[in-house]
Amino acid sequence: MHEVSIAESLIRILEEEMRPFGDAKLEGIKVRVGELSGVIADALYFAFEVCSRGTVADGAQLEIEEIPAKGFCNFCKKEFRLEVPFLVCPMCGTPDIEILSGRELEIDHLEIDDGS
Ligand SMILES: [Zn+2]
Repeated sequence: MHEVSIAESLIRILEEEMRPFGDAKLEGIKVRVGELSGVIADALYFAFEVCSRGTVADGAQLEIEEIPAKGFCNFCKKEFRLEVPFLVCPMCGTPDIEILSGRELEIDHLEIDDGS
């Protein structure tokens, strides 16, 4: 289950990010996860909850925004919704496409309560 290692690396980033805030509390974290990243949102929620215990992220609310996969066909010159796992153009069937979105795995923003 690679969601555990993703949760662990998220928490490492959060510990770095929270250092300048001293005693401020991390209330929430929002991450963007692309459909093609291979991350299962439910598994990541669970892994984050378990891994965050006793860290700066303990008690923080995780929000996951799932980003749909989109592609661009080099023949049709059109954008389309990618159907996983068939990474081809749905109009002409070519695999000659660009992946526009769906590979995201990043922190969107943090909610920090610094008491003010
Ligand atoms: Zn096409």
